[in-house]
Amino acid sequence: MSKVECSNCHHKSSQEEHFHHISLGAAESLQSFFDGGNVADYRCEQCQMVGVTSKEVRLQVAPTIAILQFKIFEKEEGCRSKKIPHYGSFQTVMDLTPHSTNKTVHLKYNLYGVVVHLGETLEGGHYICFIKSMGKWHQISDQLVEETDEEVVLEQAAYILFYERDDRE
Ligand SMILES: [Zn+2]
Repeated sequence: MSKVECSNCHHKSSQEEHFHHISLGAAESLQSFFDGGNVADYRCEQCQMVGVTSKEVRLQVAPTIAILQFKIFEKEEGCRSKKIPHYGSFQTVMDLTPHSTNKTVHLKYNLYGVVVHLGETLEGGHYICFIKSMGKWHQISDQLVEETDEEVVLEQAAYILFYERDDRE
C-alpha cells in the first residue's frame, strides 16, 4: 500500500500496489524505498497541482520470500547500457516490521541467495550466485560449486538478493 501527501494542500491519498520485488536505485536504501521521498510527476486529486508529494510504502501482506533488486545498469546513448557504480550494501538479516501496516507481527527475513553480475556491460559479462544451504554458503559459477564464507558473500556487489521469512518466533 502506498500513501502520498500533496505538498500544496496536504491532501492524502492511498492506493494498493502489487509488487513482486523491491527495486532499489544505485544509491537508494531499503529505508528510502519505503519512506519514499518525493514523487515529482504525481497530480493531486484535490488541488490538481502536479509536483512534489511525499510518498510512503507499507506492506499489507508479508511475503514468504522477499526479493531485492539493485539497479546496476543505466542506458547510454543508443541502446547500450553501462554499469553504474554500485554501493548497495546489505545484511544477512532484514527486518521489515517497521515497513508493515501491522507492526505487532515481527517480520524478520534471512538472506539465502545472492546474484552477482561480473563485467561492465549488460551485453556481456557473467552471472554467479551465492546460495546458503544447510547453514553453509556456496559460490556457484556455471557448474563450479565451492563452499565459501559469509564475509565473502557480504562483500559482493549484489544484483539480486533473496530473503526468506523467518517464522520460528
Ligand atoms: Zn493538493
